[in-house]
This record gives sequence, C-alpha cells and structure tokens, in this order.
Amino acid sequence: MQHENVFISLVIPVFKEEDVIMLTLNEATRVLETITQDYEIVAVDDGSTDKTFTRVMEAHQANHRIKGLRFSRNFGKEAAMLAGMARAKGQVVVTMDGDLQHPPGLITEMVEKWRKGAQIVHGVKQTRQYGGLFHRTSARIFYDLFSKIAGFKINNSSDFKLLDAQIASLLVRDFPEQQRFLRGLSCWVGYRQESVTFEVSERPVGESSWGLSTLFRYGWNSLTSYTSLPLQLVPFMGVIMLLISVVLGTETLVSRIRGESISGFATLEITILFSGSMIMIGLGIIGQYLARVYDELKKRPSFLVADEVGFEQSTRSE
Ligand code: UDP
Ligand code: MG
Repeated sequence: MQHENVFISLVIPVFKEEDVIMLTLNEATRVLETITQDYEIVAVDDGSTDKTFTRVMEAHQANHRIKGLRFSRNFGKEAAMLAGMARAKGQVVVTMDGDLQHPPGLITEMVEKWRKGAQIVHGVKQTRQYGGLFHRTSARIFYDLFSKIAGFKINNSSDFKLLDAQIASLLVRDFPEQQRFLRGLSCWVGYRQESVTFEVSERPVGESSWGLSTLFRYGWNSLTSYTSLPLQLVPFMGVIMLLISVVLGTETLVSRIRGESISGFATLEITILFSGSMIMIGLGIIGQYLARVYDELKKRPSFLVADEVGFEQSTRSE
C-alpha cells in the first residue's frame, strides 16, 4: 500500500445494491470533498447479480476518484472490505456500508479524531433501532457473549471504521488467516483506539441480505476464530456425565447390596438419551473447529477479482 497523493480511501462493500449505490456514492463524494480533494472511493462489488457494478462503472466515468472491483462470485462482506483495503492508497482508510445505514457525514468526525492522534476510530451504533426485537436482542446477546468469552469488547462496534494506513496494511498483510473478522480484529490489535457514535438509519431501499442463518454462521465463525472456549466445554460435559453416573451407579449398587429389586427404566432411558446428546454436541463442537482448521489449511484466497475499474496497474495484493 502506497500513499501517493491519496489522503482518504473510502472502502464500500456492496452486494446487490443497484438501487442505492448511486445515492451512497454521491453522498460520500459530497462529504469527502469537504474534507479533501485527495480522496478515492473503492466500491467492492461482492458478486452481485444485478446492475451494481454497472452503476459503479458509470460513477467512475463521471468521477475518476471512484474505483471499483468486482468479485467473481459472492465471497462475503469481510472479504469485500479486505479487498478494498488491500487496494486502498490513502493515509487513512474508512470502511462503510453501501446502503446509507452508515451516515457518510460521520467521516468528518472520524478524520478529526485521527488528526488528534487516534489510529483506529470505531463507528459505534448508538441504538439499534432497525430490525425487529428478535434481531436486536440476539445482536446484544452475541456481543455480550463475545466480550465475555473472547475476553475483549466489541460492543456495538460496527463495520463503519477509520483505520490508519499502517493498521490497514497490517490487517491485509500480516494476518494470514482466511477468516478475518474485521470488527473483532480492529479491537484486538490495540493501538490508539477511539470511537464516535451514530444512529443507524433505515435502509432507503432494498433489504438487509443477512438472514437468520447467515447471522448465526457469522456469529459462530467470529466466535470460533477468537476463542477455543467451546472446545473446553466438551470435557466439562464429560465431567457432568461422570458425576451423574457416579450418583446413579451408587444408588443402583446400594439397592443391589440391600437385595432390593433394581428399578429405574425411566432413569436409564433419560441417562442414555442425555449422554448421547452430550456426545453428539461434543463431537459437533470438535468437528466445527476441525473444519476451521481444514479451511485455513487449504489457504485458498479469500476472494477472486473478476473485473476492476479505475486502478492504475493491477497489483493483486491477495
Ligand atoms: N454486503 C456484501 N456482501 C454480502 C452481504 C452484504 O458486501 O454478502 C454489503 C451490503 O451491500 C452492504 C453491507 O455489506 O453495503 C451491509 O449489508 P446489509 O445492509 O445487508 O447488512 P446489515 O445492515 O443488516 O448489517
Ligand atoms: Mg445495512
């Protein structure tokens, strides 16, 4: 990553955002121009099947500071942010959603904090107004659980962030892991971190592409990339089973010695079912970690670029 005359790089991951991308780009351009003339916007199309990339190319025609990458298929938002960061040339790199739920106006405040010495500025959601009660509650439970288990806070931290170029290139280059969870990593790295709060606005058009299963997978993946605590749960479950078997075993033995008839088919049935499910859960957890190891071992690229517009030379950093 070089810093040739670019002050701010704005990285926007977009997936099927043909209706809103122009609005976002216009609004972002307006804000960036109040800060500096030396900006660039890197829109990363995460394999959209609609006209998102066509819109980006149109935007590039009108303003050469807008650049675009298009993935060969959907690789996920994390990969899209990473690809944009890898190509960004600015002294500061800002990541922002492409659906205007992250107000571009906040970039001004983030840059102010950076000028005062902050190296990472987190955009923190003030209230999670949008989404149903279920969505809000599960998000809160996830963040609380994550902080407790992984040992560092990511509470309400969003993917709206400013990163000093040094840290952005560090995240791109020095973290060989496939699954990079930016929200977690940007807290984990340390350095001088600050935050600014913002209100999450409703999407102007379209809808969130995060279904329940995607969210669950995202949550589980991010948790397992930071902690092996679920693995420690397996022997813990074993100990519980052992305690139960000691109690039940003693009871049976005592009845036998006393010459009482041995009863307890219900207990037997429950014990078998319970131990069976514990074994399954334990194996499942181990299997999940094994799958993560397998994925990391393959060392496949986190994304593949199919098209690009606006970049000088194609230096593929990933
Ligand atoms: N996004 C992406 N790849 C995906 C899903 C989403 O690049 O597979 C982008 C999307 O276009 C948007 C941002 O990530 O700019 C946030 O997505 P979304 O609004 O669906 O999520 P939410 O706001 O509900 O967290
Ligand atoms: Mg959104």
